[in-house]
Amino acid sequence: MSRALTHYTGRHITFATMHGKEQLARGAFRRILGATVAAAPGLDTDQFGTFAGDIPRILTPRDAARAKARLGMQIAETTCGLASEGSFDARFGPLVEQREIVLFIDDDLGLDLIEGTLTTSPLPGGCTITTPGGAREFAEALGFPAQGVILHGAQDGHTIVHKNFTQLDELQATAEALLAGESAVIVLPDYRAHRSPSRADTIRALCNQMAKRLATECPNCHTPGFGRVDVEPGLPCSDCGAATQAIAADLHGCGACSHRTRIPRTHLRAEPAWCDYCNP
Ligand SMILES: [Zn+2]
Ligand SMILES: [Zn+2]
Repeated sequence: MSRALTHYTGRHITFATMHGKEQLARGAFRRILGATVAAAPGLDTDQFGTFAGDIPRILTPRDAARAKARLGMQIAETTCGLASEGSFDARFGPLVEQREIVLFIDDDLGLDLIEGTLTTSPLPGGCTITTPGGAREFAEALGFPAQGVILHGAQDGHTIVHKNFTQLDELQATAEALLAGESAVIVLPDYRAHRSPSRADTIRALCNQMAKRLATECPNCHTPGFGRVDVEPGLPCSDCGAATQAIAADLHGCGACSHRTRIPRTHLRAEPAWCDYCNP
């Protein structure tokens, strides 16, 4: 084996998940770090809130991810843990904004690190259906059954969530029964990682970024996990030279000491579209 030894070579890391997310981290953590990743057995992450809305989310995504990771580490009795947390926001019309974070904790070194992304989700938001066929069409357009769908019905003023469909007929029959009960029925994508290939891809990419980060040492104190902690706006406008909101540099930091480095982005000038003077 010619793999370079890293701080995490041979270490066991617990992924707090009940939806198979450990499989999304396993490859990169083995290849880049030589570490093994396993799920915490018997962990119930739904207690921290669900996408379907049957259990509300109270904590911020970062706090929820941290609470999950800690619980997983406690169950599996490891000192290193991973967790991920996603949120989908359909407030902006047809575009659904997807925020995703992967959090890593190392209690031996006192590290609490985040890799995150904000993108437009390839999945649509939910929609109200008036016929059982509406649920079927929605599901087929998303690539069901690989991409799952959820039905929301109302009963005595409460939202009842129906999930884990694997057959179109079963989905349609449930939609039919809900519609017969005169309830407003909403169909929406299932965002859970094991029922959403596009979300699984996003988490896998973040796990890959996290593994690379853990292979990177702080130039000052040599603690692993050196990486991006912030960005710096202010890239000058290509027309007038004024500072814009476009990102000028990435700021990399250490999870253990206060060392930071500034890495300028490759663009030297921003498009005038980002400029408050040229494009107010
Ligand atoms: Zn300008
Ligand atoms: Zn350091």
